[in-house]
Amino acid sequence: MNYAQRARQIEPSATVAVGNLAAELREEGVDIADLSVGEPDMGTPDHIVEAGRQALADGHTGYTASSGLPALRDAIAETLGERGLSHSGDDIIVTPGAKQAIFEAVQALVDPGDEVVIIDPAWVSYEPIVTLAGGSVTRIDTTPHEFRLEPALDDLTEAIGDSTELVIVNSPSNPTGAVYSEAALLGVRDLSVEHDVTVLSDEIYGQITYDGGYTRPGALEGMADRTVTIDGFSKAYAMTGWRLGYMAAPSGLISQAGKIHSHSVTCASNFAQRAAVEALENGDETVAEMVETFHERRDFLVEKLASEGVSVRPPAGAFYLMVPVDEDDQQWCEDALSEAHVATVPGSAFGAPGYARFAYTRDTERLSEAIDRLADGGFL
Ligand code: PMP
Repeated sequence: MNYAQRARQIEPSATVAVGNLAAELREEGVDIADLSVGEPDMGTPDHIVEAGRQALADGHTGYTASSGLPALRDAIAETLGERGLSHSGDDIIVTPGAKQAIFEAVQALVDPGDEVVIIDPAWVSYEPIVTLAGGSVTRIDTTPHEFRLEPALDDLTEAIGDSTELVIVNSPSNPTGAVYSEAALLGVRDLSVEHDVTVLSDEIYGQITYDGGYTRPGALEGMADRTVTIDGFSKAYAMTGWRLGYMAAPSGLISQAGKIHSHSVTCASNFAQRAAVEALENGDETVAEMVETFHERRDFLVEKLASEGVSVRPPAGAFYLMVPVDEDDQQWCEDALSEAHVATVPGSAFGAPGYARFAYTRDTERLSEAIDRLADGGFL
């Protein structure tokens, strides 16, 4: 078989090596303290599961409208309105996961030769998604600034040029947990207006913030007609396996992306969409409880690391923390896994060599054990 250049030019995620090693060790019966997992450990709240079950029992097993159930799109529009993002249900496409929404938006916006600016450290899939659209990636790096965006605005000014089509912003960030300040996002706004650039705001962790003061790019003055907002149900409602996300965007982009959506996935799954309506209408309390739990874990982990002499700035959102490790972070992660039986993700997977991403998607007892194991093994 002759494989297409499109597929050959992208690499599998750099997390694969550690994942494979963890699977091998588990098979041998080794107990792994797994801090590599990017999904909540709480399970989907019962009332949402029940809504999904009921939808199936009621026979909602067929296709829905391609862009999603009107009831869900309206509920999403209402939720976004409460966040200062003004959209009607018609401006929304419901997708099987936020990843698909990002994929469709990039496919609809990026031509071969277009440049897309990504803010490092960055989630692993942005670059391959851009590459698959034929675009090229320009990276700016917040690592020298403790992952804050504001001090990196000069670099952003240099990175954005005539061929820039899109800037991808992910706040709170995977992998750093950083929440970008309003001043930083106003800087992004000014540059995108000046260069007529679209901003894709990936807000999949937008409900998981701890210290207040969260700015959404699409809510800034002058940004409504140049922002694609991405969100979904995976993280805040612990629904990763239901595969449900969405994009909200100006109607022109929605029509273009809607064609890609209908010819690729047709629609997101019917019963999952019905459960999502329940999540939006009655999920606030469980989200608040979950955020509280993550907040406690964040504080616990930051303190526990400090007690071992590792000082990290507490990230204001998501459930990740970047820990400075050896220069060769890939090797550090492999050794930490095979010797201390703690799984983390090498920072180089996210464009942050010298760090490892610790996910606090485990309870404090397990987090404590993981840090003890790393300390005992001389890894911290
Ligand atoms: N964006 C970011 C930053 C993520 O971390 C993830 C999940 N790991 C996604 C998007 C995709 O989420 P999903 O497709 O599960 O909705």
